[in-house]
Amino acid sequence: MAVTLSARIKGAVGEGRGRRSGPLTPPLPRRWSLTPGDLYLLIGGAGVLITGMWVRHGGATLFADPIGAIAAVGQLAGLYGTLLALVGILLMSRAPWVDQVVGSDEAARLHRLAGFASVWLLVVHALASTAALVSGDTIATPNQIVQGIIDFTVLQEGGLGATVALALFALVALVSIRAARAFLAYETWYGIHLYVYVAVALGFTHQLALGSDFVGDALARSTWVALYAAAFLPLIAFRFVTPIVRNLRHQFYVDEVVMERTGVVSLWVSGRNLESLPVRAGQWFGIRALTSDGWWRSNPYSLSAGPDARRLRFTIEALGDGSRRLQRLAPGTRLFLEGPYGLLTGAVRTREKVLLIAGGIGITPLRALLEVLPARRGDLALMYRVPSKDSLVFKRELQRLADVRNADVSFVTGSRDSFTFRDDPLSAAGLKSAYPDILERDVYLCGSPRMMERVSQSLRELGVPKVQVHLERFGW
Ligand SMILES: Cc1cc2nc3c(=O)[nH]c(=O)nc-3n(C[C@H](O)[C@H](O)[C@H](O)COP(=O)(O)OP(=O)(O)OC[C@H]3O[C@@H](n4cnc5c(N)ncnc54)[C@H](O)[C@@H]3O)c2cc1C
Repeated sequence: MAVTLSARIKGAVGEGRGRRSGPLTPPLPRRWSLTPGDLYLLIGGAGVLITGMWVRHGGATLFADPIGAIAAVGQLAGLYGTLLALVGILLMSRAPWVDQVVGSDEAARLHRLAGFASVWLLVVHALASTAALVSGDTIATPNQIVQGIIDFTVLQEGGLGATVALALFALVALVSIRAARAFLAYETWYGIHLYVYVAVALGFTHQLALGSDFVGDALARSTWVALYAAAFLPLIAFRFVTPIVRNLRHQFYVDEVVMERTGVVSLWVSGRNLESLPVRAGQWFGIRALTSDGWWRSNPYSLSAGPDARRLRFTIEALGDGSRRLQRLAPGTRLFLEGPYGLLTGAVRTREKVLLIAGGIGITPLRALLEVLPARRGDLALMYRVPSKDSLVFKRELQRLADVRNADVSFVTGSRDSFTFRDDPLSAAGLKSAYPDILERDVYLCGSPRMMERVSQSLRELGVPKVQVHLERFGW
């Protein structure tokens, strides 16, 4: 069953321009005028640099005979494999320019691709380099290569570190395969993921001690150290230093806990100097409760109300241990917030008209956007899909916002299976009939992975350009 509610009235409200009665407004985060092309150019440039370094050391001449060619493949695989591992680390550094240029979802996807490619290349590096080393007049057999790896690990100085590094990379790749991830808690997967840093550190010493491109060449060593610094400095700055400084400055705490409906609770968070915290509606924070049993885990939550420089609101659905623990926090509990992150904001908007499509608890960032996106009468529309009326969150607030913001707000209730193919409101035909001007709209989408896949497919079928579609995935 679909329930539709429309309301169109009065004036629009401006993002970051005194939306509420008080004079305080938060500053907007800095925008970086970089494009994804700039980032890819930087990474390509680093690839060219290390290839040039390898050629300068006579790498290309190795191709003169078959065993030399195997050694060359081993060397190049090691260099590119390490470069991709560093790119993966940079992508997860949460540096604001990376976040803004590619978005956190895309950064996570690219990180995954770079990570898997890096592990394959490092395996090729180990096999090819050992094969070249143990081959005599003829190319080594698999048994000789295995024995060569054992000898290298046991007898070669630094060999054990290199083999352990490769094993750790392989372990992380293994637990990151989707089928394996389904069996792991997020925290277990994340904990194992941290071994990458140990592996990268061990690999670094192995390269400087044994790498044919580094031994005896100070310039090559400095270039390599600079590449490591380019990946690790942003990581240290934005994963550790910035959050610590920000939390010392703002001293966040739970101000109020409000029950929204059974299983869904809002935390109102306050702190010091919130008027100087740059943040946009649609962004999210990692929330860590500074309690004896909560300090070690951080869970991501989107703002569910436009930031007003006084308080931040997060709305949390109970799914597992982490969310239940956050729901039980008492007012006054200190919090450590990491963020704000994410690109599901007004900053990426390309059109005046906007359609927000929410599924389930994915309503949180879209509720905040409905509140603050500047819009003229009728420019804003929200479709909010839930399995049943009882699952609706913010029903009254949304009705009020529809009124105040002159927005079309539709509640669609029913599971996907309860719709026939023809009347599924999330199908291409369903969306087109509800929003005939959909091609002229930016579409902001947030919900379960299955629902998001369904809507993304419909938007592709309708020909909505990719630049007009903005997504936030509540997953890892
Ligand atoms: C960018 C982003 C914004 C989010 N915003 C909201 C929000 O506003 N309101 C809300 O209720 N939920 C939101 N979520 C989902 C929320 O983070 C998870 O439901 C929560 O972390 C579950 O933790 P748990 O320990 O209770 O459950 P678990 O039992 O550990 O997991 C339940 C589900 O949540 C996923 N999950 C667990 N930990 C994480 C994590 N650290 N990162 C991503 N997914 C995780 C798991 O894959 C699993 O599917 C958001 C997720 C992301 C990635």
